[in-house]
Amino acid sequence: DGIYVAELFHGPTYAFKDIALQFLGNLFEHILKERGEKMNILGATSGDTGSAAIYGVKGKDNINIFILHPSGKVSPVQELQMTTVKSENVFNIAVKGSFDDCQAIVKQLFSDLEFKSKYNLGAVNSINWARILAQIVYYFYIYFWVCDKQQIDEQHLRFVVPTGNFGNILAGFYARRMGLPIDKLLLATNENNILHRLISRGDYSIKDVVETYSPSMDIQLSSNLERYLYYLYEEDAETLRKKMKELSGERKIHFTEEEINKIRTVFLSHESSNDETIRTIRNFHTNTGYVLDPHTACGVNAANNMMSKDNYIYVCLATAHPSKFPEAVYKATGKYPEKPKGISELNDLEKQSYVLNNSADEVKSFVKNILEEGDKNAGR
Ligand SMILES: *Cc1c(COP(=O)(O)O)cnc(C)c1O
Repeated sequence: DGIYVAELFHGPTYAFKDIALQFLGNLFEHILKERGEKMNILGATSGDTGSAAIYGVKGKDNINIFILHPSGKVSPVQELQMTTVKSENVFNIAVKGSFDDCQAIVKQLFSDLEFKSKYNLGAVNSINWARILAQIVYYFYIYFWVCDKQQIDEQHLRFVVPTGNFGNILAGFYARRMGLPIDKLLLATNENNILHRLISRGDYSIKDVVETYSPSMDIQLSSNLERYLYYLYEEDAETLRKKMKELSGERKIHFTEEEINKIRTVFLSHESSNDETIRTIRNFHTNTGYVLDPHTACGVNAANNMMSKDNYIYVCLATAHPSKFPEAVYKATGKYPEKPKGISELNDLEKQSYVLNNSADEVKSFVKNILEEGDKNAGR
């Protein structure tokens, strides 16, 4: 009925991030080999990115990966996905602290330039350009797939994107800019609605992050938005610099009426409350038998809302398998979602992680020891 769900979650960790990170692992391996270099990836994760990154680079030559997560504070599935990977180049570090502590430690290690260059530290966070690049591909693929299924008039298709860090939807923006005849991109947020406020009212002011059923979208400041703003300001880096300064000073950016109208030529937006998210999972399941994860549900709710006003074709990007978020699905449908084999098997595997104190020095010595041990072994 004019609504498609595009499942982007069939990679090893059952989230759409796998698509980009599986590509990235191979890309890194190829380029490092070509240049005769080594790389040590260091990152902090509150959930999805860490496990997808680990699966992207496990077993690759010339790469090690160190992922910090807050000990006992990631979801059970996510912890299993990260800590059960057995590979000599993967090091899980459980920090006795919060996610913010983990991030602060990573930041501190990266800012020690001597350490960073001596040990070839690199990042795979969501501003990594190669990740955006990989994501552009499925917008084209899906567009042509839908064209095969049904006649679509020029510019009669809209993508709906559950959005956190603005990485997925930015890829859609580039696809459109490259000429793919997408009408508009419908940006779906949860109650962390800064991007919805921007698009609907021109209000881009930072508020506190609230917890929702869709934790991967619990973000206020989307680091990738800056890339879009560059185009909004006619590729004028100086204006962009000024605006980003305004943001860090005043905790908001002012937009003119003209700028807001220009944003709306590309983007529409919708916010889903926690209640609406649950209701959407429930209604969609009752009406179609299909189980949505809470992130995708924000997208489907946004599409339902718009469809009552027009007759575009909506493609909702499904960003995670529902069994990664069993509690929300249970609340909505009264049933736990079926687990795919790759998730149910995890319970039988041995977990492995190194528990460290909330201390940048401790993490630094750990990384150092591992890498120097590795060099010794290689020299033998
Ligand atoms: C990362 C993630 C998102 C948000 O994607 P962005 O590229 O950060 O906007 C949405 N849903 C799920 C399940 C995710 O893992």
